[in-house]
Amino acid sequence: MVKTFQIIDRGDPKSREIAERYKKSLLKGGLTISQTPDLVISIGGDGTMLKGFRDFYNPSTAFVGLHTGTLGFYADWSKNESELLLKSILQEQPQLEKCPLIKGEFKLQSGEKKEYLAMNEIVIKSKSISTMILDVKINGEKFESFRGDGILISTPSGSTAYSHSLWGSVIHPTIEAMQVIEMASINNSVFRTLNRSLVLPKNQQLMLDFPEHDDDSIIVGIDGKEYPLNKIQAVNISVAEEKINFARYRTFPFWKRVMEKFLKEY
Ligand code: NAD
Repeated sequence: MVKTFQIIDRGDPKSREIAERYKKSLLKGGLTISQTPDLVISIGGDGTMLKGFRDFYNPSTAFVGLHTGTLGFYADWSKNESELLLKSILQEQPQLEKCPLIKGEFKLQSGEKKEYLAMNEIVIKSKSISTMILDVKINGEKFESFRGDGILISTPSGSTAYSHSLWGSVIHPTIEAMQVIEMASINNSVFRTLNRSLVLPKNQQLMLDFPEHDDDSIIVGIDGKEYPLNKIQAVNISVAEEKINFARYRTFPFWKRVMEKFLKEY
């Protein structure tokens, strides 16, 4: 059973009110608040969960989400079910569903290195109207020469987010893979790309190799947050060893959720 928790809310009155109610009930039920909690409860939307992941990710922590707006992929309990979820947290042992994350290792021209985990995606794109140029390598070997707006690398869970808007495939969130998507690539006699998304398995590595540049023309976004990384030399991206645990107090109907979000008529 869950013994320690954290609650993160979107900050709007409804989310705040539910978060306060949960906090009171869980403390009364004998649970305690911890910086490395057994359970992170996200109240708001998918973006709230992404923030919870940034703030509290730990391989042994589980995450559960309640939405106070529209139905989400991470926030899969509705506000009308808030009492049911609270009771489940207090009384039941959740099943843990483990989903892959991706890891990005950024090497800067200064020699500095930065490492990030992503739950949805890593986007590397040109900051301006100018195109971005780089070589794409797979497992150390040159694969293609890219010139275009950017490259997005998505986790399976992120395949229903930004990746979907770029015509990426929807991938079941438990499959150990990552999807690489081109953003407006130019194909000519010098720059040539596959012009399709690639799906790489675990233990394979994607490397983006940038030519030397003087300006800060590249922008990096991870799970919807911008990271100021100046003069990137190369980026290695792979499926991470670490996974995220989702606390399932009931089955998460992934394909039903895909149907509801993308196919259902309103
Ligand atoms: P936001 O407020 O811009 O919301 C973006 C939307 O993406 C929301 O409707 C959210 O519910 C949805 N979303 C987030 N993760 C999802 C997932 N795994 N599956 C399905 N839908 C998902 O920003 P936010 O709420 O902070 O979310 C950040 C995410 O927004 C980024 O990680 C990126 O995936 C997405 N995004 C999408 C686009 C696009 O589609 N053109 C552009 C920028 C960011």
